[in-house]
Amino acid sequence: MGFYVYPQSGVPSAAEGTVGSHVVSDPDPRRAIPSVQRVIEALDPQSARALRVTCARAAVAAARDAIEAGTSPSEAEVIADAAAALRGKRLALLGPVVNATGILLHTNLGRSPLSAELLEAMSAAAGYTNLEYQLDEGRRGSRHAHAGHLFAEAVGAQAGMVVNNNAAAVLLCLAALARDREVVVSRGELVEIGGGFRVPEIMAETRARLVEVGTTNRTRADDYRGALGAETALLLKVHASNYRMIGFVAETPIAELALLGPPVMVDAGSGLLDETTPWLDAPPDWLAGEPGVRQCLEAGARIVTFSGDKLLGGQQAGIIVGDRELVHRCASHPLARAVRADKLTLAGLQAVALAYLAGEPDLLGFWRLATEPMSALAARADALALGLAGAKVIETEAAAGGGSLPGRTIPSVGVAISVDDVDGVLAALRSERIVARAQDGAVVCDLRTVEAGDDQRLAAALARATGGDSSSAGT
Ligand SMILES: *Cc1c(COP(=O)(O)O)cnc(C)c1O
Repeated sequence: MGFYVYPQSGVPSAAEGTVGSHVVSDPDPRRAIPSVQRVIEALDPQSARALRVTCARAAVAAARDAIEAGTSPSEAEVIADAAAALRGKRLALLGPVVNATGILLHTNLGRSPLSAELLEAMSAAAGYTNLEYQLDEGRRGSRHAHAGHLFAEAVGAQAGMVVNNNAAAVLLCLAALARDREVVVSRGELVEIGGGFRVPEIMAETRARLVEVGTTNRTRADDYRGALGAETALLLKVHASNYRMIGFVAETPIAELALLGPPVMVDAGSGLLDETTPWLDAPPDWLAGEPGVRQCLEAGARIVTFSGDKLLGGQQAGIIVGDRELVHRCASHPLARAVRADKLTLAGLQAVALAYLAGEPDLLGFWRLATEPMSALAARADALALGLAGAKVIETEAAAGGGSLPGRTIPSVGVAISVDDVDGVLAALRSERIVARAQDGAVVCDLRTVEAGDDQRLAAALARATGGDSSSAGT
């Protein structure tokens, strides 16, 4: 006992018997305080040792303070105190959660899930890689030669590159292609995407000059034409990812803008590579109206940016594809260095690009979940609901989320459990790292976003949280 370093200097150890001039009555209550080592040993060995040490020290220190204040906590209380703190710290650590919200690209829950194959590709790149090295020539290469090149191939572009996220991609394109020059944008597309990404503000950061044209609801080719001048660097179209305008609206198609002269840049946002979804049997209804990167390019866009972790189904990244000359200017701009993607991101996205090129959507977590047949979801929901008191299987509306496809829902199946204390049950589930949702006075778990391998865990947690029985669930 007693090999630890006491965290606060100047505090006497338990063996000294007195605290300052105050003589502690016999039996010395500090004897009841366990050592830090003893508390560490009593905590869940599955948790990180660093956290156990911190929580044990804090609980022992608090117990000493309590004794000075005249109370005497027992050993069990000190351990319970440390265990509660440890639970809180563990819950706050970044780690897996079960997403039962039905929102596939939930930004707060890390957007697109990554498949095992993708992780394998990433882990294979953990050591040394030919990140910027040409093995055939034995000389320096480009980090855009792998994933960036493959994405260009997948969408029919001349060149491509990968950066940290789509916000960075837009920033880099504007800085590299339009600094101190003018960028013409429709007033209907001066959008805020969320998380502080506002088109006019990003543009101001790059020192590109924003030229607003048209009105909020209608912008015609003539509006753009009227704004053209010697200073025009780009015509920018921003996909209004997270909202939809209906009614008396008109936007100018890329094909018309492309006839005006200056290069057209498109911030496509969600990263649907191709509207015809050749990697699926047929395009799902809920994708209707979402622009494909390939189609933007075919219509005449010279440079297109999109996210890696939205409909593309990869990790956080931004992808730039387009004309060789324009992509090259982006890649050689000084900001490219500040927003460049690391080898793990590039390795994962290379696997994503290869999955698209091979037409293997199952390698892409998003598409696998988004296209799981209703019959399979219903069978899983039946099994889940079977052992839970008050549970019933319901049809639900899942959503792509992540600021894409607003107003469009993906048919899904869930389990609804009527409980008195909906918020309490949701909190109990969260304490087990499960995020469900409230709906009509019930706790609803939407299975569209739950990996089938998590069903049993979900059933057990639901049973605990609702006081029901899950004996037959998941069997
Ligand atoms: C999501 C989105 C962004 C931001 O992309 P991140 O990858 O989250 O940085 C920018 N523009 C549009 C149109 C988007 O949909």
